[in-house]
Amino acid sequence: MIQMNDFKSEPQQLRQAMLGAVQRVLESGWYVLGNEVIAFEKQWAAACGVPYAIGVGNGMDAIEISLRALKIGPGDEVITTPMTAFATVLAILRAGATPVLADIDSETTLLSIESAARCLTSKTKAVVLVHLYGQVRQMGAWVDFCDAHKINLIEDCAQAHLASWKGKYAGSFGATGAFSFYPTKNLGAPGDAGMIVTSNEEVAKLAARLRNYGQSVRYHHPEIGMNSRLDEIQAAILGERLKWLPEFSERRRQIVESYKKGILNPMVRLPAPPEEPSAHAYHLFVLTCEHRPELEAHLQKNGVQSLIHYPIPIHKQTCCGYLARDRRGLTNSEKHAATCLSLPCHPQMTSSDIATVISAVNSFS
Ligand SMILES: *Cc1c(COP(=O)(O)O)cnc(C)c1O
Repeated sequence: MIQMNDFKSEPQQLRQAMLGAVQRVLESGWYVLGNEVIAFEKQWAAACGVPYAIGVGNGMDAIEISLRALKIGPGDEVITTPMTAFATVLAILRAGATPVLADIDSETTLLSIESAARCLTSKTKAVVLVHLYGQVRQMGAWVDFCDAHKINLIEDCAQAHLASWKGKYAGSFGATGAFSFYPTKNLGAPGDAGMIVTSNEEVAKLAARLRNYGQSVRYHHPEIGMNSRLDEIQAAILGERLKWLPEFSERRRQIVESYKKGILNPMVRLPAPPEEPSAHAYHLFVLTCEHRPELEAHLQKNGVQSLIHYPIPIHKQTCCGYLARDRRGLTNSEKHAATCLSLPCHPQMTSSDIATVISAVNSFS
């Protein structure tokens, strides 16, 4: 079976480097918020082209702490997409703010600016823009939109590690960029990890306090914070894995090129091309098909795993049916949720795996 992810077949050299990193931490005797975290924060900030990075427990907390560090909370509205990981909206709710759902653009699957404009009210304080599947698009227009309405742009970069648009990296456009290093992400830890990047020193300082009980110096708590710290072992391993990220991203891009050339079945629709090659991290390769359950079963029978990102848009979740939304509805999101299917697209795939996936899709009828 060709899996959606295959960590066990990663290069032996990477495995050795990860084990070396773990050993380094164990021998240091320092496990939480130490030199490894500081070093990886510096590396990630530099990679994203921003001055500050704050390591946190996971991607969801990176969004919640971003909001809180921007003083967004109870009574404030935050516009986002229903076509995202549940964590995006949960983070807004956890910050005490009110999510307002705008629809996606049916071509790109990303948040529609026109729909977001219909969701603006006097209470709107931010847009959480999700770079879905790894795509970074229309950043000039989003920055202008948020500036014009004096609201914050928060980038959910959980799927877009080091994607760049006109020479700037994902996470460097908004007030903050929130990253997840969940194992399946393009840069993934063997566990939970996340990071906030920002160019604003005040926001960086407040975020660094909020992740650690709201503590300024030991035993002094000017803020009601939380415990969302990045630990030393994950940071040390992420530092090693970061060295492989460019090569792994290039491999993802090659796989997508092969899919785009090779998949010729008129029963499936391929994803929209990126605005420029670098403006996509190729986290997920998502096609659409009117006969999705049959396609899924056909792929399975031919040895190809597939997954759905995401089968249930946020407003259809039992606990989120009440959420405010675009008055014209969220029909593009609903349509996409009903037809999208993600094919395996990970750096450990071989040429023969790629060929197997392509012929499995092409033989569907
Ligand atoms: C994975 C993901 C998150 C959440 O990250 P965690 O580290 O799992 O908390 C948030 N948003 C998007 C778009 C994601 O893909």
